[in-house]
Amino acid sequence: MRKYKHLFFDLDHTLWDFATNEQETLTDLFNSYNLNGHFNSFEAFFDCYKPINADLWIKYRHGQIKKADLNVGRFHNTFLTVGLDQPKLAEKFAHDFVAFNSQKKAVMPHTFELLDYLKAHYQMHIITNGFVEAQKVKMEMSGLRPYFKKIFISEEVGAQKPKVAFFEYAIKSCNARKKESLVIGDSLAMDIKGAQDFGLDHVFFNPHQTSHSEKVFKEIHSLSELIGWL
Ligand SMILES: [Mg+2]
Repeated sequence: MRKYKHLFFDLDHTLWDFATNEQETLTDLFNSYNLNGHFNSFEAFFDCYKPINADLWIKYRHGQIKKADLNVGRFHNTFLTVGLDQPKLAEKFAHDFVAFNSQKKAVMPHTFELLDYLKAHYQMHIITNGFVEAQKVKMEMSGLRPYFKKIFISEEVGAQKPKVAFFEYAIKSCNARKKESLVIGDSLAMDIKGAQDFGLDHVFFNPHQTSHSEKVFKEIHSLSELIGWL
C-alpha cells in the first residue's frame, strides 16, 4: 500500500533544467543582439545579469514590482551597467528570452526515468511560480506535459508559493488529502517552506548538496533516489 496518491512537483530546477536552458538561451541572444560590442564576454554579461535577476525575482515575489518590471527590468538594468540605456531594446530582449527559453528541452538527470516509474502509481501535478506563457510551453516542448494531470501556476492560482493559499488551492483542486500528498522541490524558501507551513510531507531536492540547517522530511541529491522510495 503506497502512502501517497498525489505528487506535487516543482518545475524549474526540479524537473526542467532551468540553469542549462537559461544559459543556452542567453548565449544565443547575446550573440544575435551583438552584445559583445558592449560586454567583454558572455560570462561578464551573465555574471552581471544573475544577481540583478535574482534581486528582481525577490521583489516580484514580495509583490513590490509587477511582472513586466521584473521581465524587462532585469535586462534593462544589466544593459545599464555598461551604459546601454535602451528600454525598447530591453523590452524586445526580454520578450525573446521568455519565448526562446521556454522552447528549450533540457531536463534534470533521471527525470523521465523517474516519471515513467511513477506514472502508474500516482497522480502527478506541477506547482510553479513561473510565468503562465512560459511554463505551459516548457511543459509541452520538453515532453513533460503527458505525465501531469494538473498544472498550478501562481499567476493563475492568485497566490505564490510558499503561501498556504497556493498549496491549499492545489490540494483542494485535486480532491487530495493532505496525508496522501507529497511535495517535491528544489527551493527551501518556496517549495519546502510552503509544504511545511501547510503541513505536507516533502522532499527537498538538493542536487548541488548546498548546506543548510532546515529540518526537512526527506532530502535527495538525485531524482533517481525517489525510484524505489516511492
Ligand atoms: Mg524550483
